[in-house]
Amino acid sequence: MSPDAKAYKTITAEEPQRILLQNGHERFNPNLLTGSLQLKAHLCQPVHVGSGLLEPPIMRDLQSDILLVRTLFRVGDKVCIPGTSLKGAFRSLIEMFTNSCAPGDDSDEFRGCKPGEADSTELCPACRLFGAFGFLGNVRFEDVVLPTKIRRSIFMLPPQYNSGKGRQHGERRYYPHDLVDEREGNWPFEVLDPGQSFEIKVSFKNISSEDLGLLLIGLGQGEWQICPKLGGGKSAGLGSVRITDLRGQLLDIHASYASFESQYLPFVPEDHIKEAQDFLEVDVLEELAENLGWELLREQCDEK
Ligand SMILES: [Zn+2]
Repeated sequence: MSPDAKAYKTITAEEPQRILLQNGHERFNPNLLTGSLQLKAHLCQPVHVGSGLLEPPIMRDLQSDILLVRTLFRVGDKVCIPGTSLKGAFRSLIEMFTNSCAPGDDSDEFRGCKPGEADSTELCPACRLFGAFGFLGNVRFEDVVLPTKIRRSIFMLPPQYNSGKGRQHGERRYYPHDLVDEREGNWPFEVLDPGQSFEIKVSFKNISSEDLGLLLIGLGQGEWQICPKLGGGKSAGLGSVRITDLRGQLLDIHASYASFESQYLPFVPEDHIKEAQDFLEVDVLEELAENLGWELLREQCDEK
């Protein structure tokens, strides 16, 4: 890669496809879906979800002559991946392959959704799932607290550019697994070593079958097998994660009210993915499958 080549690709969004919100948060709607998902995330590249702090490596049991390193986010002594970081990574993926708004975009066309009164709120797919200004989302990612024995090291990142600079209206950027900024690194980052894995827990309430399908595709399910990029340094070969081992539970709202224990409905992910077809930008999804899919990542990943 030449020094001025870009390690990202762009997709131009279509106008947001907003529909009326069917339910607020005040009650469970038996015609919508409420439940949880559990998945396994395999680190195929080093991952840095940072605290923003610069610390001496010795403080974090890292052997190095470097004076200060940008460390991983922690809760107490344990490395943690905040649910909000996971949510952000999956939201930006889902924004790309659906016709969703772009919350950071100030143009009339792509400006973030604005919820109004309860019965007149129209939201795009990403805002229905993940929330908008004034509307709490219907999907929640739990924080992941990693075990103390998780393997870490120091990765030298090349100088970073402002990732939003020069962005056109409706333009979205993503970082293909095989496009790597190969300039020499001079920024020391603490990273999680590849070849390890952790559990992701997601809960959702009052979402339609179509929206659950979109969430599942974003979580790497379906024929596209998209592997998201998580955390910082995406242009420098960091962040690629493969999601596998999906397990899900759908609450049977009616039966649960009449019982002392929670009752569940059958969970068939393929059915929801099929339902999501009307909200998919198929060309974009195919492009993402090519550049962010498991096929491309397979050779780099320890998990085969
Ligand atoms: Zn929106």
